[in-house]
Amino acid sequence: MTNTDLHFIDSHCHVDASDFDDDREAMLARAEAVGVRELIVVGASGSIEQARKTVEFAATHPNMYATVGVHPHEAAKVDESWWPALCELAAKPEVVAVGETGLDFYYDSSPREVQKRWFRDHIELAAKLDKPIICHIRDAHPQALEILEAHAAGRVKTIIHCFTGSPVEAQKYSELGFYISFSGIVTFKGKATRQVRESVSCVPHGQLLIETDCPYLAPVPKRGKRNEPAFLVNTAAVVAKEAGLSVEELAAITVANTRVVFGLTSP
Ligand SMILES: [Zn+2]
Ligand SMILES: [Zn+2]
Repeated sequence: MTNTDLHFIDSHCHVDASDFDDDREAMLARAEAVGVRELIVVGASGSIEQARKTVEFAATHPNMYATVGVHPHEAAKVDESWWPALCELAAKPEVVAVGETGLDFYYDSSPREVQKRWFRDHIELAAKLDKPIICHIRDAHPQALEILEAHAAGRVKTIIHCFTGSPVEAQKYSELGFYISFSGIVTFKGKATRQVRESVSCVPHGQLLIETDCPYLAPVPKRGKRNEPAFLVNTAAVVAKEAGLSVEELAAITVANTRVVFGLTSP
């Protein structure tokens, strides 16, 4: 199948990661060839230097947009003294969102209270800058809902990236007006991932996003391999089916949603 007439946006990827150092330009060409024409390059920074690099990287590539934030995995390791510098970086016009930030109680790489504090600080920053927030939530949906309902709903455009919850949770986030982004997990076979797949139909079309989160979480049939933006088409096929849309319709809808939430102008 050729998708050259299609236009997708990968709403969450890490194409500046060292995993792509050997073939980055070829990897980007493969994405373009299947219609993945724009990328949101998400900063999941462990240092201010890394955050700056993400912004510089996106700025040197057409059709790429950067975000900056502290990943919940890094929350306890980050030197707090660079928060003012991160705020300054996030305010730059070329930075389209704050994040990823959030709560990951599956890996628990940082103490939960520390994750919560960073999460709330990021929400305040996003509110101040009037930019959307990208949330990484794993095994922490009740706690995330509590924080987001109190601090973000109706105030900050909110994206739940790489959704891993249940239909009930998808519905709760949707009712708060949040955008929900589906990754390659929807293509995985199995009981645990079935509920993620079933969640697609609980999200209004106007709040649907798709992403790779590459280099992680390659969709079937590439599962287990390094992920890359070209593989977004495999995820799109499953999300389209679950949403009762054609792939063409899903592509158009998710591109429009991505533009609205990140404030992108058409290229
Ligand atoms: Zn994430
Ligand atoms: Zn990510």
